[in-house]
Amino acid sequence: MENGSKKWGFQADKGLNAASAITVRGVLNELIESLNKQDQRPVIPLGHGDPSAFPCFRTTSVAEDAIVDALKSAKFNCYAPTVGILTARRAIADHLNRDLPFKLSPDDVFVTLGCTQAIEVTLTVLGRPGANILLPRPGFPYYEAVASRSNLEVRHFDLLPEKGWEVDLEAVEALADENSVAMVIINPGNPCGNVYSYGHLKKIAETARKIGIMVIADEVYAHLTFGSTPYVRMGTFGPIVPVLSLGSISKRWIVPGWRIGWLVTSDANGILKNSGVVDSILSCLNLTPDPATFIQGALSEILENTKKDFFLKTISLLREAVDTCYDMIQGNPYITCPMKPEGSMFIMAKLNLSLLEGIKDDMDFCLKLAKEESVIVLPGIAVGLKNWLRISFAIEPSALEVGLGRMKSFCERHAKKQ
Ligand SMILES: *Cc1c(COP(=O)(O)O)cnc(C)c1O
Repeated sequence: MENGSKKWGFQADKGLNAASAITVRGVLNELIESLNKQDQRPVIPLGHGDPSAFPCFRTTSVAEDAIVDALKSAKFNCYAPTVGILTARRAIADHLNRDLPFKLSPDDVFVTLGCTQAIEVTLTVLGRPGANILLPRPGFPYYEAVASRSNLEVRHFDLLPEKGWEVDLEAVEALADENSVAMVIINPGNPCGNVYSYGHLKKIAETARKIGIMVIADEVYAHLTFGSTPYVRMGTFGPIVPVLSLGSISKRWIVPGWRIGWLVTSDANGILKNSGVVDSILSCLNLTPDPATFIQGALSEILENTKKDFFLKTISLLREAVDTCYDMIQGNPYITCPMKPEGSMFIMAKLNLSLLEGIKDDMDFCLKLAKEESVIVLPGIAVGLKNWLRISFAIEPSALEVGLGRMKSFCERHAKKQ
C-alpha cells in the first residue's frame, strides 16, 4: 500500500527534542558523536558524574548483598505503597536525623525514583500559571527542563566564583516577586564543587523567609566532601523556612542505576502541610511510577550498615583526584579555576579564549577536543555558563592525568602565535 498519500492522526512533540538537546545527556551525546573512531587511544570520559564503571569506585558489598537478600526473601514482589515502604521511609528519616538538630518522622519522607523524580515531583507540585522559581547559574539543567514543562517561569541568580560559588543573595532578593515560589540550592554543588558553610546556609534561609519562598535543597552529593568546610544539611534551618530536601543513594553509594532516592519535608512550622504542598506531593506520586519494591526493601540495610571504610575510600580517591585535577589546571595557562572544589565530583574552569586560535566558544572547544584527543568534557553552556568547562574528576586517577595531559597538548596546539 502507498504510504505517501495516507494521512495519519499522530505527530511527535518536537518541543521535546529541543528540551532534551540542552540537557547534560543531550550535549554529551553530541560530543560522543564527534569522537574520531580512527584514534586508537582510549576515550577519557571527564563529562559525566558516574564513576560506577571504574573498578576502584565499585559500590560496597553491603549494598550488593542487601539487594540480593531483599530479592530472595520474596517479601518484595508486591507493588509498593505510593509513598514508599515504611522500612525505607524510616531508614531515610533516621539517616538524615544523624545530621539534624531535631527529628524527622517517616511521614516526612517520600521514596522516589532517584533524585531525578524528587526534582520532577517538586517542580510539578509547585507549578501554576504565573509562578516563578529561582534557579542557580551555573546549575543542573534538569531543573530548567522540568520547570519549562510545569508552568514555572525560570529566573536565574548567579553563584559567585570569587566567593567560593556562594549564592548572590542580593540578586535573589532583586529577582523575587509575589509570584516566586521557591529557590533551589545544590549543596555540595554540581557543577561547582562548592560546600556551603553553616553561616551561608543560614543566610539563604533568612533571605528565603524574608521573600516568603521555600528552599529546595538538592543534596544528592551529601557527604561527598573532602575540603575543610563541614557538611551541613539545609533542613537544619527548617524552623526558619520550609525546606524540601532531595537526595538519593546514586552518588554516595555509586549506584545511579539502582534508581532510588527521596523527597523530604523539613517543615517545623507546618507551612508546607497547611498550604497543601504535602497533599499535592502525594497526588503527584499517585500518578507516577515507583522505585522497584525490592530496592526499597534493601534500603534500610544499605543506609544503616554500610561501613565507614567504604565512604573513606571514596573520599580519599576523590581527594586525590581533585588534587591532581586542580594542580594540572594550574599548570595549564589556557584554563583558569577560581576555586578548588570541596565536594561533589566536578570542577568549573574558565576558558581563556583570547589565548586560543580558531576556537569559537566552549562548545567548539569540547567538540574539537573530543575529535582530536578523545577526551570528553562538558561545555559550560550546558550548565548555564558560557565559555567555561565542567570537568568531572570522579574517574580512575591515572586516566584523569592522561585526560588533562591531552587537554593541555590540545590547548598548546591551538595557542595563538605571538
Ligand atoms: C545526579 C544528580 C541528580 C540525579 O540523581 P539520581 O539519583 O541519579 O536521579 C540530581 N541532582 C544533581 C545535582 C545531580 O548531579
